[in-house]
Amino acid sequence: MTEDRSRALFAEAQQHIPGGVNSPVRAMRSVGRAFPLFIASAAGATLTDADGNDYVDLVGSWGPMIVGHAHLAVVEAVREAMVRGSSYGAPTAGETDLAVRVKRVYPGIELIRFVSSGTEASMSALRLARSATGREKVLKFAGCYHGHVDALLAEAGSGIATLGIPSTPGVPASVTAGTIVVPFNDDDAVDRAFAAHGRDLACAIVEGVPGNMGVVPPARGFMERLQARCRESGALFVVDDVMSGFRVAPGGAVELYGLEPDLVVLGKIIGGGLPAAAFGGRRQVMELLAPLGSTYQAGTLSGNPLAMTAGCVTLDLLAEPGVYDRLERTSARLAAGLGAAAADGCCVQRVGSMMTLFFRPGPVRSFAEAAGSETGRFAAFHAHCLAQGIYLPPSQYEAWFVSLAHDDAAIDAVVAAAGGFFARSPQ
Ligand SMILES: *Cc1c(COP(=O)(O)O)cnc(C)c1O
Repeated sequence: MTEDRSRALFAEAQQHIPGGVNSPVRAMRSVGRAFPLFIASAAGATLTDADGNDYVDLVGSWGPMIVGHAHLAVVEAVREAMVRGSSYGAPTAGETDLAVRVKRVYPGIELIRFVSSGTEASMSALRLARSATGREKVLKFAGCYHGHVDALLAEAGSGIATLGIPSTPGVPASVTAGTIVVPFNDDDAVDRAFAAHGRDLACAIVEGVPGNMGVVPPARGFMERLQARCRESGALFVVDDVMSGFRVAPGGAVELYGLEPDLVVLGKIIGGGLPAAAFGGRRQVMELLAPLGSTYQAGTLSGNPLAMTAGCVTLDLLAEPGVYDRLERTSARLAAGLGAAAADGCCVQRVGSMMTLFFRPGPVRSFAEAAGSETGRFAAFHAHCLAQGIYLPPSQYEAWFVSLAHDDAAIDAVVAAAGGFFARSPQ
């Protein structure tokens, strides 16, 4: 197995692109690699790198590829759309088609607006919450990631956690001064934050199922209580379902936990592997957006026809009977296999088809606890799996994603690779 092409392509990329990558965790530095694999193609649950090596993919483009890579129905529909022109900067029927499909599974969304990335969606939701309430402060949770929005980068998960960046140079202190950061799953801390800042809070934003510190499910009642605190204080309750939406249930964490957020942030799966995201919610709030209201928000490629097409086809595939049962079965098989293979000092945390194998005893309830993981051991595990043809997220603080394209053989290959690692180094 050679990696010569990837090594050479990375050397070349570094001449032109900072760190050779367009999103930091892709560089795979935190798992001790000198260069990342360059991907040439993908199909179903398989990634093929530039040297022709195949991998079982558990990254799934960090979540979007829930129907598998290059699904024929998606490919055909996007090909047909492409021939009709890829962008017009004018309305198309496809935007309404996708809006209708989203609203079917998120009945609390009365109006929705499409954008091009999850970052843009949460940035816009935050602006809208501030506009709707006339307040400036925002409450977020340590380890939750909502994209690289200035005000939300305080103690964020994902790459910020992976790279150990406490706060980002370039974000003015004045911008994060109004950001209140609270430990996840800590009811008392939430109560204290609302007691101190409740009347100034525009919103509380929370990941529907936090996956950007690794998968950390909300404790029973935690989300409901947060929602109640928002209602009492007049702050909007914003659920960021970018990762968990259309994944842990058709209607994401909102459906799974029976929540009634004022605004929902969506991304990843909604674009079917093309760049699309959205925010939506109560009509009264959404109508503040221009052109109906004076809160400005716009995008040259917003509602892009190719992305709307890929999103519609993907949501249609997810609407077929039995799909979520199948995902659950496959995901449970993986989690059970990993749990049996793993050493005592590890734990598997899973909600539906997103999961993390933490290199520390469970349960992991917060970012502080996730940060107690043995990341050096995770790096060794990652390298072992890669050598066995298993492509995992290159960080302890990320979710693994199971897709509809993973069959039992693919899952068993992952479990076998994990078993090999723990047999060799049980501690
Ligand atoms: C990925 C993610 C985002 C950011 O989406 P981008 O498209 O990468 O900007 C926001 N929130 C959550 C919960 C995410 O997982």
